[in-house]
Amino acid sequence: MLGHGLPLTGRQGRQCAKCGSCTAVCPVYRVTGRESLTARGRLHLLGTELAARPSAAYEDLFAQCLLCGACENVCPRQLPIRRLTVEARSRFSFLYGRHPLRRSLVRSVLARPVLLERLVKTGLALERLVLIPRDSGLRLKLALLDGEPATGAAAQQETAIGPDPAAAGVQYFVGCLARYLQPSIADATRRLVRRFSGGSTVEPRRQGCCGLAAWSAGDREEAVRLAKQNIEAFAASTGPVLTSCVSCFAHLKQYAELFADDPEWREEAERFSRRVREFSAFMVELDPAPLFRSPGRERILYHEPCHLRFSGENREAPRALLRRVEGAVIVEPEEGPHCCGQGGLFYLGYPEMGDRIFSRACEAALKTGATVVVTGCSGCLLQWRSGLGVRHAPVRVLHPALFLADCLDIDS
Ligand code: SF4
Ligand code: SF4
Repeated sequence: MLGHGLPLTGRQGRQCAKCGSCTAVCPVYRVTGRESLTARGRLHLLGTELAARPSAAYEDLFAQCLLCGACENVCPRQLPIRRLTVEARSRFSFLYGRHPLRRSLVRSVLARPVLLERLVKTGLALERLVLIPRDSGLRLKLALLDGEPATGAAAQQETAIGPDPAAAGVQYFVGCLARYLQPSIADATRRLVRRFSGGSTVEPRRQGCCGLAAWSAGDREEAVRLAKQNIEAFAASTGPVLTSCVSCFAHLKQYAELFADDPEWREEAERFSRRVREFSAFMVELDPAPLFRSPGRERILYHEPCHLRFSGENREAPRALLRRVEGAVIVEPEEGPHCCGQGGLFYLGYPEMGDRIFSRACEAALKTGATVVVTGCSGCLLQWRSGLGVRHAPVRVLHPALFLADCLDIDS
């Protein structure tokens, strides 16, 4: 669990047994070999005098963490490593780490839907400029967009963000990627929900960014503001709250801990967190009949997002769902799941390191002969699409909802 709530101190950092279990599994250590970039290295620093007056170099060490959770998963002392890292970041200067303005801009935009819509429109206009080289990472990232998003009333219709949050149906937290950048994911989710639950989705208008980006950057105030907005958006309804993004899922589940010290919001936050369901687990609960048939002999590599892999919840649901697709096989990398190196804002600050981490995952994936990579996390989707695009690899990258919608009733 991420552990979002209580303030921590260097004392907890000093509980580290220095066993090194976390070092062996850390994706950053694997590509850099630098002890100072591991959980053990940072926990040591937290207990030194340097923590009282963090220098730019000190802050940079704490910025170079994906918050993937691999270290916490093996730590014999069960230390809340991600929470300690985020708490350290909350005391840093506004412009800590590499490319701080870039990271700060993305956080601001994610927190303000109107800004995000405008940026998407600008991006689409830019994409049409032939001056952007064909293999530019920017072009590849912009090519992820499905089409020009509508604004105002039209946007509400297109994204089905409904005016009546208490209406009957499956409550749906859409998330920024599916709402603004790749509405086809939301459309496929709606279609599958309609098909297997018999009802439609209800998407309260006031919902916004889950707040994970703000929390990861140590901006607790903004994370709390966004969490309150989402809790209120779904307060008029009961029943499960479905989300199609694994990272949003992991963060929404943690709202209870975010408000652990707040008597006014704690119960409401706990109630909300209990309602949250990840797409694959929700679909498995609906128990869809075997109606999925792969259009070709697909070899599916399911990329397991760290936010699900180390959350301890429903880790097997995506594979269980994909196994229901007739005519497709699931392939696994030889050494098991890899981190893709995206890590949200981490990639914006340290793209070269993110690429080196991705290269390992990519090499392992290509060895399996996969024809499609399926993953349910917004960040992982972006990383795989741009990474495979740059390498001109003939492998599609899809959200599970899009893959399953493609496989639905293929014969009819
Ligand atoms: S959270 Fe991930 S990247 Fe950060 S120290 Fe732990 S294993 Fe390394
Ligand atoms: S696994 Fe835990 S106890 Fe061991 S070195 Fe890492 S942080 Fe310290």
